[in-house]
Amino acid sequence: RELDDFTYVVSHDLKEPLISIEGYSKILLADYREVLHEDGHELLTSITHSCTRMKNLINELLALSRVGRLRESMTPVSTNGVIKEILDDLEYTIKQRNVCVERADNLPTVLGNRVHLVVLFRNLIVNGIKFNKSDRPVIKIDWREADSMYRFSISDNGIGIEPGYFDKIFVIFHRLRSDLRYDGTGAGLTIVKKIVETHGGKIWLDSTIGKGTTFYFTLPKS
Ligand code: ADP
Repeated sequence: RELDDFTYVVSHDLKEPLISIEGYSKILLADYREVLHEDGHELLTSITHSCTRMKNLINELLALSRVGRLRESMTPVSTNGVIKEILDDLEYTIKQRNVCVERADNLPTVLGNRVHLVVLFRNLIVNGIKFNKSDRPVIKIDWREADSMYRFSISDNGIGIEPGYFDKIFVIFHRLRSDLRYDGTGAGLTIVKKIVETHGGKIWLDSTIGKGTTFYFTLPKS
């Protein structure tokens, strides 16, 4: 909890000077273009790109610390509603990438924080589409009972993950070297894991390179 508070404060404070650096670099590029050499333009452009990247990293740290800080009360949440909201939001991507989403139609109601549950399901669905080279990405969303919990699964027919990396992908800002051409910061799965764990659940995966990946996680029944 202290680490979450610390991360929150530090990330928040780091953003201010960064915004100044980015802002002044942009002013230099816009208003002093004629007095700068070509090298100067390139250096300033690099500075603004680095600022954007660092802002994204800080935003991810803030999001991660928020999961631990905000212990809002848990309420019954329909995962059917959560998935519907996410698929509506992703409509453009789904059409553009020709994605087929197969979901169980009787998805259950869990006890949780709705905002965090949307982040959890969304990250896993987006990753299944993103790390996928198929002309027809297929995302399957399913569930079953597992004692006092529900066990959900989100599968894709994407590029797959080597078993040696199953633990590493949950480490903050860890991205697989071969996947750096895909957009991202490497914080999504860390946030996903933390959300599952703050709900008292567990997360794990199964994957075959070139065939696809399935993430499993448990959430409490409502
Ligand atoms: P990001 O998506 O920003 O790279 P994540 O924390 O969501 O960060 O994922 C970490 C890494 O795990 C990714 O960079 C990718 O290498 C791998 N990964 C995550 N989800 C999948 C998936 N469904 N299929 C293949 N690789 C994945």
